[in-house]
Amino acid sequence: MSDLHVRYLLVGGGVAASHAAQEIRRLDANGELLLVGQENTRPYHRPPLSKEFLLGRRGHEELFTHPAEWFVEHRVRLRTSQRVSRLDIHRHSATLANGEEISFDHLLIATGGGAKRLSVPGAALPNLLYLRTLEDAERLGHAMDKARREGRPHPDKAGRGRAVVIGAGVLGLEIAGTLSTAGLHVDLAVAGEHPWDHLAGETTGKALARFLGWRGVAVHLNSRAVRLEGDGRVQRVILACGGAVESLECDFAVAAVGLEVHKEILRGTPIIAEKAILVDQRCRTNIGHIYAAGDCAAIFDPLFGKHRLLDHWDSAALTGRIAGANMAGMEASFDAVSHFESRVADLELNVWGEGKIVDRRIVRGSAGAPSPRFVEFGVAADGRVAQIITVGPPTEADILPEFVRRRLRIDGNEERLKDPAVPLRELLGPDG
Ligand SMILES: Cc1cc2nc3c(=O)[nH]c(=O)nc-3n(C[C@H](O)[C@H](O)[C@H](O)COP(=O)(O)OP(=O)(O)OC[C@H]3O[C@@H](n4cnc5c(N)ncnc54)[C@H](O)[C@@H]3O)c2cc1C
Repeated sequence: MSDLHVRYLLVGGGVAASHAAQEIRRLDANGELLLVGQENTRPYHRPPLSKEFLLGRRGHEELFTHPAEWFVEHRVRLRTSQRVSRLDIHRHSATLANGEEISFDHLLIATGGGAKRLSVPGAALPNLLYLRTLEDAERLGHAMDKARREGRPHPDKAGRGRAVVIGAGVLGLEIAGTLSTAGLHVDLAVAGEHPWDHLAGETTGKALARFLGWRGVAVHLNSRAVRLEGDGRVQRVILACGGAVESLECDFAVAAVGLEVHKEILRGTPIIAEKAILVDQRCRTNIGHIYAAGDCAAIFDPLFGKHRLLDHWDSAALTGRIAGANMAGMEASFDAVSHFESRVADLELNVWGEGKIVDRRIVRGSAGAPSPRFVEFGVAADGRVAQIITVGPPTEADILPEFVRRRLRIDGNEERLKDPAVPLRELLGPDG
């Protein structure tokens, strides 16, 4: 006998779970709904953590997805600081870490992920920081303040506080841009030939490196952090750059080296997962009444005919809504062009579609200026647009995703695509 039975159980207190709750309540005002999250706050938005929150431009209260009263008014029961440790799919039940058993009709797994840990000597030193949660952001904020007050002098100008950012993916660049805007001297360790190398082409990656360079960030290309050194705290990050070794002085280091999907609760269940939990277009796992959404799920994207882990805000909110709708008896499906937005200092970046199948890239606009503004079209081997990246405020932003949605073939149109004087609508054809 379980301790509690609910119609809807949502596990994970992030944006995917909160959007699912909202959608369920839109469709079913009465079904018992319980949201269990292991953090000690109600659901909040993570994107500001690496930007406005760290810069003190957005406060704690402005991060939450819903006011506290919303949960009461909509009868969404919220259990924070509670972890679901086990699932029993035959009994339709979940066990919390405190031993309580909750049975459900429909379950959503929206457990997101955590920051992947760096595994090099010295990685256990206390001022190697990560950024995933509000607590992490507060810790990083304290380290920034302390470094600015009493940290190492800047190498080349007045000011105090030196940080090394390890990792040049989306999050690493955001953090480097923010720390530099906050007045710290930043060294950025880029493992590949340019930032965003898993995601974008050389033009975008090099433009990002130059942009950060203009902002005073020291960008170290082809450089891996191999060791952290210091007397009880990180004081130096040792980089290997080809055969050479470089030592970077710092007050603290931040590692942004990827996402580790939270899928421990699948242990002992037949729910299928690879890097993330595999779900169909309706966010269903292979077990009928169990759904997954957000960063812990790889959704089947019909546009590319494969499962994709879309670990960004738009997709977490959207798949949360899709799962919620289906749990409440609707037939909602993922048919969007995946998109995310990022910001490095004041540079806006947008990405639509899938970079992994891109074979060649076509650039429209100027990548050279201190304020770059251009579009990178990623074309797959079949000659169709697979990905679009905008650097700087996008023009024609309403049309750009259409190129991916239609998987437009651009053969023969390359020169016109490169020319910003040619309206994109003309290239879309008659239905544009
Ligand atoms: C600093 C930062 C900046 C970002 N900036 C951007 C951006 O600019 N643009 C963008 O598109 N995306 C951005 N993202 C990514 C975006 O925030 C995520 O894609 C989104 O938060 C994912 O939401 P989610 O609900 O799937 O997972 P999460 O937000 O990870 O939430 C999952 C929650 O479930 C909890 N949980 C895990 N296991 C259990 C369990 N067993 N029991 C109970 N609870 C559990 C977790 O602790 C967590 O609180 C950023 C992420 C970070 C960290």
